[in-house]
Parts: sequence; structure tokens; C-alpha cells
Amino acid sequence: MAATFSPIEELDLYCRFCNKVIPAQLDRSIAESGRVLDRLSTFEYYCTKCFKTACYTGTDLLEQNTQNETPRTYKPTDHFLLGETIFHQSFNEHGVVVGKDNGTPSRITVLFEKSGLKKLIQDI
Ligand SMILES: [Zn+2]
Repeated sequence: MAATFSPIEELDLYCRFCNKVIPAQLDRSIAESGRVLDRLSTFEYYCTKCFKTACYTGTDLLEQNTQNETPRTYKPTDHFLLGETIFHQSFNEHGVVVGKDNGTPSRITVLFEKSGLKKLIQDI
């Protein structure tokens, strides 16, 4: 049996339409549809500014109550989660994963404390 999955309800996500990082909310209509939600389910978030939606699967989203783990160090071979705090050794600073781009290779958009928004490859 697949384990149920509860994504974080509020995430700061990069909105392509606003072109900046905006708080996004999980769309409750999908979360409460009654079926079992696992990591393969799709979750829809809407931008609290322009109300455009973006869909992500559970495998791309941080689960509730896993927020306060020690940040992972960024490595292009790893897979990162939306909402996850990571540490980048070359920049020597922390950032939060705020977006995903499922091209080849897959890229994450990370908001760093000082360096601002950066696109980094993952899953190579
Ligand atoms: Zn927006």
C-alpha cells in the first residue's frame, strides 16, 4: 500500500506570471477529493497574487513536518523538493527551492539569501 502524502499547504513558489516568488496555497479541492493521496498524486498550488495555478507531484514536494531537517548540500546528482532549504557550497549560503523546470536536465529555481534567484540543475 502506498503511504499517504500530505504536502505543505503554504509554500513560497516562483510564479512564472508574476515573475517573482509569491506565497502559494495548496488547492483544497484536490487535497480533499477523497482518494488516497500519495507521492505519485498531483497537487495544485495557486499563486496568492495572480491566482494562476501550478501542478506538482508528491515526489517534487516537501511533506508536512519534514521542514526542520538539516539542509542538504546542493549536488547536481540529487533530487530536490519544492520548499526544501538547501546549502550551496560555492555560494556559501542557504537557499529555498521555489520552482521546478522539468526539462533535460531538470532544473530547480532556488532563492538564495544574498545571491537571489538561481537556476540549478538536478537529477543528472
Ligand atoms: Zn502569480
